[in-house]
Amino acid sequence: MSTNPYSWLDKSLATIHRANWYRSVKAIASRPGAIVELSGKPVINFASNDYLGLAGDQRLIQAAIDATLAYGTGSTGSRLLSGHRELHRELEIAIAALKQTEDALVFSSGYLANIGTVAALVGQKDLIFGDQYNHSSLKKGAILSGAKTIDYEHNNIEDLRHKLEIHRTLYRHCLITTDSVFSMDGDLCPLPELMAIAEEFACMLLVDEAHATGVMGHTGAGCVEYFNCTGKELVQIGTLSKALGSLGGYVAGSASLIDFLRNRAPSWIYTTALSPGDTAAAKEAIKIVKEEYTRREKLWQNIHYLKQELSDLNLLPSESPILCIDLKTPEAALNKAQQLIEAGIFAPAIRPPTVPTSRIRLSLMATHERSHLDLLIENLRLRCAYPYGAQ
Ligand SMILES: *Cc1c(COP(=O)(O)O)cnc(C)c1O
Repeated sequence: MSTNPYSWLDKSLATIHRANWYRSVKAIASRPGAIVELSGKPVINFASNDYLGLAGDQRLIQAAIDATLAYGTGSTGSRLLSGHRELHRELEIAIAALKQTEDALVFSSGYLANIGTVAALVGQKDLIFGDQYNHSSLKKGAILSGAKTIDYEHNNIEDLRHKLEIHRTLYRHCLITTDSVFSMDGDLCPLPELMAIAEEFACMLLVDEAHATGVMGHTGAGCVEYFNCTGKELVQIGTLSKALGSLGGYVAGSASLIDFLRNRAPSWIYTTALSPGDTAAAKEAIKIVKEEYTRREKLWQNIHYLKQELSDLNLLPSESPILCIDLKTPEAALNKAQQLIEAGIFAPAIRPPTVPTSRIRLSLMATHERSHLDLLIENLRLRCAYPYGAQ
């Protein structure tokens, strides 16, 4: 046996290239914002999750600097050992207040919040039903949990009901999981219907509010608020790294849920606590979400304007700041993204295997000005006003 045991890596990469699935990173050379510097030139940014424009906000930056000066760069350990600071608790109280839940727990990322929570809530005797378009972290959490996992068709309550009728009674606990704003399409889950069916079949329900927190609902609490489900017993998960402009994740819910997770979620127990800087920035962001409702208003004005102006293009259904223009092939999406970049517009092509169909994915910000949107519209019209995927 003289073959190199790593040689399959290059073969596998070649296959990825051939399928046009190859991805690589691009460096942004400026502060986050509506305009960023990419490859040495300014571009209008429709690629970030910084919906409220807070990641480059002076107040978050100052909060992170102050906390770093006071407490250092690293938290030095897990929360249960040396990593806990009063700042973490203050942030958790602020999240619980925004969500109107009894308590909350911050994780080092949204990904870790999802895998740790799912794996803690269900095990081998249990059952998970997940929307087929759920975020990777929910899907990996399901595998990690060891529970029987069944996907239901995207947002299809009848399919979910059918599968519950067949499988539910054969298992102990059952957990239904869904994104609230679907991250690659921008559409919403039917939360009231999911709550009703979860109750009917005695299932726990986990909603991932990663793209909804700060964006959806009257006070920015998310889709739970948007759908008038505030106060209902639910497992709400989210991230501090999208509209909140920082880094980290959270779970919000009942006091017993949070207490249980503090004792049973491995991705919380065995990882280093959030850094003081990230924690303080997220706390400042929640204060701004509460006080500056005009930011959310501006974001929604931008969403309505763009949707209206692009209504004759091939837009996927969306009720969020994520708007996708559907294209036929990965090559068409890559070409479109390249043409946009040449026009000074940064809007990424999203392709399989991340999504089933290729598209240009636009994400809007409160800090986009009308002129930014108009330039985008003009360039999309110029280049997308052909039948589906042409050029
Ligand atoms: C981004 C995202 C996550 C992961 O959050 P991070 O804090 O970036 O790890 C989880 N779920 C959904 C739906 C997301 O979009």
